[in-house]
This record gives sequence, structure tokens and C-alpha cells, in this order.
Amino acid sequence: MEKNLGIDLGATNTCAAIVDQATMQPVVIVNEYGERVTPSVVAFRGDQVLVGRRAKNQAVMNPKGTFYNTKRLIGKRFEEIRETIGFALFPIVADSQRDGAAAIGFDGKIISPQEVSSHILRAVKQSAETQLGEAVKKAVITVPTKFNDAQRQATKDAGQIAGLDVVRIINDSTATAMAYGMGSNRTGTIAVYHLGGATFNVSILNVYDGNFEVLAAHEDLYFGGGNLDDTITNFLLKEIQNQVGFDLRTLDRSSWLSALQRIQIESEKARQVLSSDMDYEISLPYLAIKDGEPINFAYVLTRNVLEGLGQDLVDRTIEPCKKALSDARITASDLDEVILEGGMAHMPLVIDTAKHIFGESPSISVSIKPDEAAALGAAIYAETLAGDEPFAM
Ligand code: AMP
Repeated sequence: MEKNLGIDLGATNTCAAIVDQATMQPVVIVNEYGERVTPSVVAFRGDQVLVGRRAKNQAVMNPKGTFYNTKRLIGKRFEEIRETIGFALFPIVADSQRDGAAAIGFDGKIISPQEVSSHILRAVKQSAETQLGEAVKKAVITVPTKFNDAQRQATKDAGQIAGLDVVRIINDSTATAMAYGMGSNRTGTIAVYHLGGATFNVSILNVYDGNFEVLAAHEDLYFGGGNLDDTITNFLLKEIQNQVGFDLRTLDRSSWLSALQRIQIESEKARQVLSSDMDYEISLPYLAIKDGEPINFAYVLTRNVLEGLGQDLVDRTIEPCKKALSDARITASDLDEVILEGGMAHMPLVIDTAKHIFGESPSISVSIKPDEAAALGAAIYAETLAGDEPFAM
């Protein structure tokens, strides 16, 4: 039987899954690095196109040729996003050949966000084919609930450029709910609180007999884990200055950029480790050379300090949730369940903030890995389209 992929094409990371025919359970596709999610980053370097980890790791040295968060551009006209283009280090332009669509200017050429996404989709398609040992042609792709028709169509086009037949575009909140087994016989009202690396969105859904009705959805397209990482990076830069007595920004450009890149990578790693541990030892030997002497930096970051740095930021999710509840004309106690989705839901601070927003009465679920739930749900959905065989939920 034909295999259909489920793909969560995220702003920060992309995750793909497929239903295993032996167990009839969805399994995540692992990429060439053994990673279960692939960074949604594409870089053009010379005549090479780099995708995922490879692209992310050279981003600081190649700022104009490394494209990230392009999901913010897909299916949008330049005029719609003009005010917010400051998020990117690469030039964002209006594509006059495509009615002023938002696109990327690189090396005298115009690159569409669809093309960028197609490189990511092609990479996960290839990983799936390697894992399964056979060609994969069809996919269900998830999009944020608030995506409009143009954004959905552009996402579909990206799949087509990647050689995939996109059989359905579905809401990521629906996919997540399906991963939690709500596609079959559950009924109730749920909230899906989705905090990823670059964006936040919350959806309130009515679930009945396998149908998902969106009652309300709100988003903050400019808040995610990356904002916390920037805050940690700035905090560490000050600590380094205290320890070594000068500002790393005064180094020559290439030394500064390579030091910055290492600090940024370490900031994200520290934040992730602190989801399970109470402290993390940051160790950055040979961060730079100053007056012929190596600059080494060591610092123990605790979860307490991290939470102090991050609380105000994570509180940005409160308002959209309140608005969504009010638009849905319900209160938090009317919810049967709140599902936390997105990689940031690993953080105890995020789980506590969600509990604070929704109170104790709806149960808060993070039992499925939050960065994989939408892809797993998309795979379940894809399987229901693949054939007539009954599917065990
Ligand atoms: P997503 O966009 O859903 O893939 O989420 C990506 C974000 O989740 C990034 O900012 C990651 O650093 C973050 N993330 C992934 N795993 C963890 C973890 N264990 N603890 C904290 N944040 C995490």
C-alpha cells in the first residue's frame, strides 16, 4: 500500500512521521543526523544548498544566505509584512513577477518562500525514503490554524516543488488533537497551546465524532523560544564582559561573529538541558583570542536564573489565550483538556504558565513529545486517506 507522510512544517523545526504498517502506530522519521526534528533553515553557499543542522550551524558566518522563519513570509504579500521584516538578517523583497509576494533577495535573484520550504520538504522526504527503503510520494502537511487560503495554497505549492503530492493541508491543532486520540470517539472542548521556536498560537476546538470545529484562535507571530535564547545570549555577554573585562563586540568582526555563534548555540542548549536539570555548566573554552591570550568562559546557569530571565517573555502567551477564550465565549473551566504543543512545552516554566492561565480544572497534557505531536497526528490523518483499512487509534 502507498505510504503517506505526515509533516509538521514548522517555523523553526520540521518533523515528519508515518504510520508503521506492522504496529499501525505513527513513528517519527529520523534525519541523516539521527535527529527527530530538522531545523527549518536553508542556506545558499556558493552552488550548494544546505538544509537543517548544516544550514543552522553556519548561519552567523553567512547571514545573507541563511534563510530561517520563512514561514512568516509564505503566501503573504510584501505589503502585509513590511513592518515586521526586521526579524531577518537576509533581505526581504516584493516579487514583482508574483503580484508583490513577499520573497527573499539573494545574489541578485529572487527566491520565493515556497522554494525555501521545498528544500526542507525534499530533505524530510529523502529521510523518509531512506528509513522506509521505498519512494514516498504523498503527504499531509500541517499549518497554523490561522493560516489563510493563500498561505495554505503556498504551502501546498512548496510540497509540489519538492516532488510531493500534498493530499491535504490540515490545522496543526487538529493534528495534535488526533495524536492524542481525539479523531475517533472523543467529544469535548479543548485548547491547544502551541509555543514553538519562533511563534505562539492557541486554538480552541470543539471535538465531536472525529470532527474538529475551530471556535477561536489567536497568535503571536513574533514570540518563541528564540526570544528566550536572545535574552540568555545577552545575559551571558554581560557575564563574559564581567569576567574578562571587555566587550566581545569590540573584537574584529569575524572573531566576534564566531564567538557570538558559539554563545547562541550554548544558550539554546542550556535552556533545553534546564528543562530536566536544575543547573547547567556553560563551558566555552577558546571563545576568542585577545592580545595573544585565549579567552575562556565558564558559568553555571541555574533553572532559577533562567526562569527569572524568561518569565516576562513567557507571560506574552497569557493575552492571546484570554482573547481566544473570550472569542469562544467560554471560560477556562469549560475546557475538558489543554494540550501543550511545540518544543517549548518541554520547559517547566511554560507548563507552569499554562497552568496559571487555564487553572487547575482542565487537565494539562504534555504526554506526547510536544515537538512531535502535530507530525504524529498528521501521519494518522494521512493514513486514514491512504486506504480503507481500519486504523487503530
Ligand atoms: P518547535 O518550533 O515546536 O519545533 O520548537 C522549537 C523550540 O523548542 C526551540 O526554541 C527549541 O529550543 C525548543 N525546545 C526543544 N526541546 C526543548 C527542551 N527540551 N527544552 C526547552 N526547549 C526546547
